[in-house]
Amino acid sequence: MPTIEISGRQFNYTLQRKSILSLRLRLNSTGSFAVSAPHLIPQIFIDKFISEHAGWIIKNIKTPSKFPSFLNILDKKYDLIISKTAHDSVVVFDDEQKIYINSHLQTSPHIKKLLDKKLRILAAKLIKFHLSKYDFKYSHISVRNQSSRFGSCSHSNNLNFNWQIILFPLSIFQHILLHELCHTVVKNHSVKFWNLLATYDPNYRAHRRWLKSKAPKVMIFS
Ligand SMILES: [Zn+2]
Repeated sequence: MPTIEISGRQFNYTLQRKSILSLRLRLNSTGSFAVSAPHLIPQIFIDKFISEHAGWIIKNIKTPSKFPSFLNILDKKYDLIISKTAHDSVVVFDDEQKIYINSHLQTSPHIKKLLDKKLRILAAKLIKFHLSKYDFKYSHISVRNQSSRFGSCSHSNNLNFNWQIILFPLSIFQHILLHELCHTVVKNHSVKFWNLLATYDPNYRAHRRWLKSKAPKVMIFS
């Protein structure tokens, strides 16, 4: 596979000789590009053609950004093992703390999509399990990927959580559950609400500060 340096980066590209009259350039999803060239055109013209389109290539090419090698789920570190396979699947091994991601595409958005689907199911289980430890009455629980909110509680006490809260430390995760559970008793953010929350989560102020400063960095699936 030929390579060429563009703006200090090495790019592999595929070169196909065809019965065409002019050079053609096409980007592909793996972070490289393909050039189609007439049979007899010398390499120097191909290099020149690529150089002339360097700005366009840099601007439009999808760089496979490096995916994190682990994820923290409620204080447990899970190694992410990504393999290229014909069929997509994600398997979580709780004992080994490993998540195997088998993907036919090695791009970051695709791997994120696979993980998002699997971890949402895991999050629903974890959220329901932890909610059951507290003595509150609520209706339905739903677990979604709302990008801006951690959780909410409706007027009829339906609880709604962003699945990505399982990526937070356990104390922060519990703080979010307790915040919404306290809303089943007090709907607004009055002094009565904060006093109630403080009885379950005495460090709620520090937990709120953590959410403000750290949460956006952890929620990589938004
Ligand atoms: Zn609230």
